[in-house]
Amino acid sequence: MDGCLFCKIINGEISSEKVYEDGEMVALRDIAPQAPVHLLIIPKRHISGADGLRESDAALAGAILLTAKRLAEENSLENGWRVVTNVGEDGGQTVGHLHFHLLGGAKLGGFGGCVEGRG
Ligand code: AMP
Ligand code: ZN
Repeated sequence: MDGCLFCKIINGEISSEKVYEDGEMVALRDIAPQAPVHLLIIPKRHISGADGLRESDAALAGAILLTAKRLAEENSLENGWRVVTNVGEDGGQTVGHLHFHLLGGAKLGGFGGCVEGRG
């Protein structure tokens, strides 16, 4: 989608540190990490956010969650981790292309997905 930051990252117009890619999603390091491990898992197809998911996206949503689990294992997050997706203004969404934050590597604070004292 024109003007979408994550579409530009996915099509290579903007560089990123990709850690995983398959036919339907990419995972990359967040540019402003809120935890020692902070990855973004992003479907390649432009979807505005979790509010833009349709019934027909059920397999995609499930595949993204399974990718989060696998990336958590690969990043040695055996002590625990968190998946967060922000939706809309009140939810704190700043990029209007669906993405899931995978956070871990330290004791996370309460709701919000940030390491205590870092956000
Ligand atoms: P949200 O606020 O939930 O929409 O998440 C957007 C995330 O994208 C934030 O955590 C940003 O730090 C991250 N971000 C913004 N620009 C980039 C970029 N060029 N590469 C990687 N992550 C980015
Ligand atoms: Zn997009």
